[in-house]
Amino acid sequence: MFFLQADDYHQWRDHARRLLSAEVPPAEIHWNSDSSQQVLFADPRPLPECSASRKVNVPKAFLEWAEIVACYCSDRRWQLLYRTLWRLTHGERNLLEIVTDDDVHQLGQMKKMVTRDVHKMKAFVRFRKVEAAAPAQEAYVAWHRPDHRIVRLAAPFFSRRFKEMHWTILTPLESVTWNQKELVYGPGVPASEAPQDDALEDLWKTYYASIFNPARIKVSMMKREMPVRHWPTMPETELIPDLLREASQRVDRMVDSTEGFAKTAAHYLPDQKDLASLRSAAQSCRACDLCQHATQAVFGEGRRQASLVLIGEQPGDQEDLEGRPFVGPAGQLLDSALATAGINRDDVYVTNVVKHFKFTEQPLNRGKRRLHKKPNSREIYACRPWLEAELDLIRPQAIVCLGATPAQAIFGRDFRVSHSRGQLLRTDWCNHTIATWHPAALLRMPNAERRAEMLDALIADLASAAAVT
Ligand code: SF4
Repeated sequence: MFFLQADDYHQWRDHARRLLSAEVPPAEIHWNSDSSQQVLFADPRPLPECSASRKVNVPKAFLEWAEIVACYCSDRRWQLLYRTLWRLTHGERNLLEIVTDDDVHQLGQMKKMVTRDVHKMKAFVRFRKVEAAAPAQEAYVAWHRPDHRIVRLAAPFFSRRFKEMHWTILTPLESVTWNQKELVYGPGVPASEAPQDDALEDLWKTYYASIFNPARIKVSMMKREMPVRHWPTMPETELIPDLLREASQRVDRMVDSTEGFAKTAAHYLPDQKDLASLRSAAQSCRACDLCQHATQAVFGEGRRQASLVLIGEQPGDQEDLEGRPFVGPAGQLLDSALATAGINRDDVYVTNVVKHFKFTEQPLNRGKRRLHKKPNSREIYACRPWLEAELDLIRPQAIVCLGATPAQAIFGRDFRVSHSRGQLLRTDWCNHTIATWHPAALLRMPNAERRAEMLDALIADLASAAAVT
């Protein structure tokens, strides 16, 4: 019998590789829990070396599952993972597709619980500002109590979202620090060591009160989704009793203001419509679900007096993090096309049809990669009031629609960039509106010759628009 322990996925994988290579069946292994617990019995058998001649081919999906399930806090996970691995490599290659299988079902449940815990960590972590070791440097600390060992799964998300901050997240089992360059993992700490003072706390509470939607309140659901044990680390939860008391009046006010209208961003437009107040109000927009996952609304950027407006589809990954439109790879290509067309980017106003980033997440090594997802017609419709308000204010002499989404938002759903690209057309906002390729479409084009043609067309269309301003 082997008595083994694993602290994390990598250690388990190393053990499992050796055991599998020596054809050790699951029944001959007793997997112990984390290193915090003692192995009660001395291992009478040393762990076998990996056999160079035995190549084990494991489905990629299993490795992805295993990395997540390894974070589940239970002794059962290592045994279950090894038994599943054994079965996958001993004649049951398609095992993961059999959802009724007991092992697959258990793995699926564990994966679901861990994924849910990661989601909660992303939603409920609240940083507090603390004195930093280095002068003139701000540091932030958060205390969180997850159900599972998920710090390494969730940390890359925080490093992307709070890239410019120096922060630490403490949990009972592990901690992680982002030093603006890399993630550094350490041991867990008790809650008593987390700082209590928070200069940002009042600001956050004000923000929460402004976004609190009483019509969505179901207290039991709230407690399930936002477990009460997370409340002490979330300053806004102090407001919940008062907000609940005021909820019925607030619902009435909301119903009054929305009755008879489809839900669009129109309800979030400020009374005073200048670019600064519109930009600020867009941060509170909840007219569609895109705001729930994006970092922030990315509003248009440029001068109110701009004679040329460029409209893209939606912010990308980098724009979402920086809060500015067209700063990612497509933005760099656009800058270069503008320069070639003789246009100074500072002279134009650049915006998007949809203000929040829509994406899907794909596993990438130990983190996730956010991939652009096209907004649907409901989201485009909901967001349109922001674009209309921008165009109403600026009243440019020419508009360039970059790609199909803005072109269809302006000219209608039947508009095809491939048919009507480069034509100067009249719209509600100006006499010269032109549709052309989105720079991102050029970046995705695999054929170099076609890509060069599209770039020439983009530059020519930008120049045509600039010529009429
Ligand atoms: S995408 Fe537009 S409509 Fe949807 S929440 Fe964001 S700003 Fe509002």
